[in-house]
Amino acid sequence: DDHTPTAAAGADGPKKFPKGVVLGADGKPCRSCTSFASWAAITKSQTKGASAGTTTGTAVPSTFSSQPSPPADCPPDVEALGRSTWTLLHSITATYPTAPTASQQDNARGFLRSFASLYPCWVCAEDFQDWMKTNTPRVSSRDEFGRWMCEAHNAVNVKLGKDVFECSRWEERWRTGWKD
Ligand code: FAD
Repeated sequence: DDHTPTAAAGADGPKKFPKGVVLGADGKPCRSCTSFASWAAITKSQTKGASAGTTTGTAVPSTFSSQPSPPADCPPDVEALGRSTWTLLHSITATYPTAPTASQQDNARGFLRSFASLYPCWVCAEDFQDWMKTNTPRVSSRDEFGRWMCEAHNAVNVKLGKDVFECSRWEERWRTGWKD
């Protein structure tokens, strides 16, 4: 299942959505699971449909649907949400104690459990939960936690066909700045 259904049952029969649109549990497109490009394609196709007299669509300014990413004051798409979230997650590891107490380690594990169940992109959250089942969080030190988070991020990079990050450099990227 690639989590990208293109049709959803509704009162008026199945609705078709452009490729890449991920639906939520309510059968409607899930904004935080879908890229802005695919999201804009929905409004574009609806606008086209409306002009052809087939669908009622919400007209959007063409400048909006041709932008590569959502305007800063719009709800985030899957990419903007992901970038902000990775910034938070890696920054948490960057400020994590080098020798955490048992209670600090419990907090880190608890945070990851809650995070994985609350993350707004449900397909991302499900995959992250699955990944954590075989990659138990390592929170015994800042370096362990930072590397574990880097590996978690790399698992998503691989899934999305992106470059893998060199995890020995996680601290340069997220704490100290680059050496050279
Ligand atoms: P990002 O991947 O957001 O990375 C931001 C910056 O982090 C990069 O510029 C780089 O400097 C640095 N970086 C990259 N890799 C690493 C690493 N391994 N360790 C340390 N630093 C690194 N999107 C989907 O479409 N489908 C998904 O299933 C999905 N699952 C996600 C699960 C989680 C838990 C999160 C937080 C995000 C998920 N995303 C998913 C979003 C996705 O990971 C990206 O955030 C999004 O595609 C934007 O990517 P980007 O290329 O701008 O950089």
